[in-house]
Amino acid sequence: MHSLPPLTNTVFSLSFLDDWCYSSQAKVLNCSGPEAWPGYCQTGEQSPINIITKQIKLNYSLVDFKFSGYDLKQETFIKNNGYTIKMPLPDSAKISGGGLSGTYKGVESHLHWSDSVDKGSEHTIDGKAFAMEMHVIHMKEKFANLSMALASSDRDAFAVLGFLIEASNQKHEGFQIILDALDKVSYKNGNTFTKPLSLEELLPDVKNRKKYFRYMGSLTTPDCDVKVIWTVFKTTIGLHKDQAFQLLLQDFILFHRILFRDQSCWEPSDHDALTVMWIMGKPQSGPLARCDHPPFT
Ligand SMILES: [Zn+2]
Repeated sequence: MHSLPPLTNTVFSLSFLDDWCYSSQAKVLNCSGPEAWPGYCQTGEQSPINIITKQIKLNYSLVDFKFSGYDLKQETFIKNNGYTIKMPLPDSAKISGGGLSGTYKGVESHLHWSDSVDKGSEHTIDGKAFAMEMHVIHMKEKFANLSMALASSDRDAFAVLGFLIEASNQKHEGFQIILDALDKVSYKNGNTFTKPLSLEELLPDVKNRKKYFRYMGSLTTPDCDVKVIWTVFKTTIGLHKDQAFQLLLQDFILFHRILFRDQSCWEPSDHDALTVMWIMGKPQSGPLARCDHPPFT
């Protein structure tokens, strides 16, 4: 299958390259969009993909996953790395079964989104994009660290679980804990701890993690290493539309217009008008100023 170009801002944050970005960012920033991404990005079996349901084949060897450590409830570190918000997974978060060759241990989870509830996901199903997508990344248990996993020749060095997120009419209590922490990570490298939260609380109930799409693919950001066994779950995560809107508006705008620049001031343009209005309507924790200009009043 052919891969789709990435649809959104964001990220798998294991790259050592700093100047890559998504198409929408490349329009306003001096950085390399997907067409110019290095490494394996222009070759190979790249992710994400459009899943064409008429072409999938049932595979009865794809049994249920076993999840362990997903229920560990703890204050969760959350960081804005300039591309997304990411949360390292506890060492104890492990998966096995699911057609995997062995046990994989947690690395991190992060979100993909855009400025619209109908195009934020990286994977699409029959051409349909979803509001957001959550990736839960694991590497083979044998690897002591990420560098070893990235350096390995294992085609399935990483196992990434993808959860598509839709806007719904029900409030999602788990995601609300993340939303409540966003104000504290408004700037690149901003970080904080959430209230106690488990990975389990963010995902569909385990009985709804039995149906999934499986393919061999790649990391979705530079260097796009072709070392990922992908699982995209059929059951979506539902966020209340107000919650989805909060993420889409707050973070998309901030990430794209301000945060990615890694500075506490910026040169506003007409393009930034919405951002400025929004910020003025919502007090920030620190001083926020235009570059070489007086602070906003
Ligand atoms: Zn991702």
